[in-house]
Amino acid sequence: MSLYDNFGRPLLNLRISVTQRCDYHCTYCHSEGEIKRTNDNNRIEMTSEEIVHITKIAITLGITRIKLTGGEPLMRHDICKIVAGIADLSGLKDISLTTNGLMLSNIAQELHDVGLGRINISLVSLNPETYRTLTGGNLDNALAGVKAAVNVGFSPVKLNMVLLKGVNEKDVSDMIMYAEKMGVILQLIELDPVNVSSVYYNSHHCNLKEQEELLRQRAVDIEQRQFMHNRLIYHLPNVNVEVVHPIENTDFCMHCTRLRVTSNGNLKTCLMQNNKLTDILTPIHQGASDEEIKQLFKQANQLREPYNKTLNQL
Ligand code: SAM
Repeated sequence: MSLYDNFGRPLLNLRISVTQRCDYHCTYCHSEGEIKRTNDNNRIEMTSEEIVHITKIAITLGITRIKLTGGEPLMRHDICKIVAGIADLSGLKDISLTTNGLMLSNIAQELHDVGLGRINISLVSLNPETYRTLTGGNLDNALAGVKAAVNVGFSPVKLNMVLLKGVNEKDVSDMIMYAEKMGVILQLIELDPVNVSSVYYNSHHCNLKEQEELLRQRAVDIEQRQFMHNRLIYHLPNVNVEVVHPIENTDFCMHCTRLRVTSNGNLKTCLMQNNKLTDILTPIHQGASDEEIKQLFKQANQLREPYNKTLNQL
């Protein structure tokens, strides 16, 4: 039985940040909306056992889909242990991970073997210079990661491309061709104004309307993902392109089925909001029972509310 929030939205997904550490320096990065902890002493991370334990409790409350994120999840030396522990839990429909791909080619097979179902790889451009400027990383490493992900059989593999005005918009058609060639899905993502300056946001945000119009013209079918923000998937003749358009989108928020766990063990209701965190790690450290942690999940669920509301929700 799923939990529902005060807006009638079921709670089905948990997006877990397993670390704040990252080997890239993406100019646009929202860091999953976490407050950046710069002091190393404050960089508390959940252990692999705690992450699995929290997930197990979440499943008893009707959550069936887990996404691992960060920071860069592959920075965790125990990432395969985390995936294996979660994949072993009964009642899960989906476990996936999002990565910058830098270290993926070395670990893709092991991640697949321990039960990771699917994977998202951030790929902001196919131009090596643009890629380096935006991420600080080397494009070849990321492309090797994509190849490895496809070869070991993740299904689907998705490429996450955050669109930045005047920077990588022109790369979209190349990216569609690349996705088609590799047999993967492309996700075009609107820039969120989180953990970036307003100057950066105002100069880089583009609303994806133009891209969506081009996709609409080429699509043979358009699908809507009901339990995933009502996102649209454009089925082009040989490749699918999904559009993630959250800004000022009441429909997106109304169909949000997600709760987040920050890398230091707080339940977080929304990417955009940091004022309603529920600490579950301290109670776990203090020996709280599963029932007590469940109650904290239920409280956090009641705090969920659409960031963009329709007029009759105001
Ligand atoms: N390091 C991993 C990676 O690169 O995928 C996981 C962390 S990253 C924060 C998770 C996802 O957030 C990536 O797909 C990235 O493209 C997306 N993302 C980062 N900053 C964003 C922003 N400001 N707006 C929208 N999406 C963003």
